[in-house]
Amino acid sequence: MSLFAAEELGMSFGGIRAVDSVSFEVEAGQVFTIIGPNGAGKTTIFNLVSRIYDPSQGRLRFRDEDITRVPPHEIARRGIARTFQNIELFEHATVLHNLLLGRHAHARPHLVQELLFLPGVRARERAHREAAEKVIDFLDLQPYRDSLVVNLPYGVRKVVEMGRALCTEPTLLLLDEPSSGLSVEETADMAFWIEDIRTLLGITVLMVEHDMSLVSAVSDRVLALNYGRVVACGTAREVQEHPDVIKAYLGG
Ligand code: ATP
Repeated sequence: MSLFAAEELGMSFGGIRAVDSVSFEVEAGQVFTIIGPNGAGKTTIFNLVSRIYDPSQGRLRFRDEDITRVPPHEIARRGIARTFQNIELFEHATVLHNLLLGRHAHARPHLVQELLFLPGVRARERAHREAAEKVIDFLDLQPYRDSLVVNLPYGVRKVVEMGRALCTEPTLLLLDEPSSGLSVEETADMAFWIEDIRTLLGITVLMVEHDMSLVSAVSDRVLALNYGRVVACGTAREVQEHPDVIKAYLGG
């Protein structure tokens, strides 16, 4: 049984069918990538999976559970974390504080305990710090640990955002265009991070990506969309060579 499945997923905006009966399955331990030309429906699928949108049609399954109507704040607690195309971090907070915010998905509210700062609260706080520090080490972010995000180069911010998502200890990590805004060298580094996240942390990755060098370097399976529909699904090479995919990209 796959870790994640989209079944006959559909989403309409007024008269526009942004996603039309899209089905796919992501196996545990895979990097699964969605590609497609502009307007193909990739971001809409991402927003459906992270539950920002309610689908007009179809179902989402994660670890044998139907998550089609699970609210977005509950998704992280179930083990799904995401990054955003345009990076969503607290710019005037440090890297460490941004990562600690990622831990909030794990925090259970115990208001009275928190107000009294009881030993249990202190222990939890320590555990959050240790988890954040581990992610800082894993992603080589030590030099930036106490820097304000606003002062960091774009490429480092992208890694910090990924780190914040990792702090929630996800089973499934959703990456929305991890290479966008990155240089060729930074994109190559990103490929290594994604590979490490999969092999060393055992996290399954579902991503949307435009850069075919990154797609080919890290993806086990690739799904190509056009006009909201599946055009092809297979290895990066199979999909890139598929005549309907070539046609979709060339606008034929
Ligand atoms: P890009 O690569 O340009 O980000 P995409 O593949 O992510 O494109 P989507 O952003 O999912 O594509 O858009 C799919 C279709 O749905 C497009 O025709 C788009 O104009 C439309 N669309 C997306 N979001 C909305 C919205 N909130 N309201 C109306 N139409 C939308």
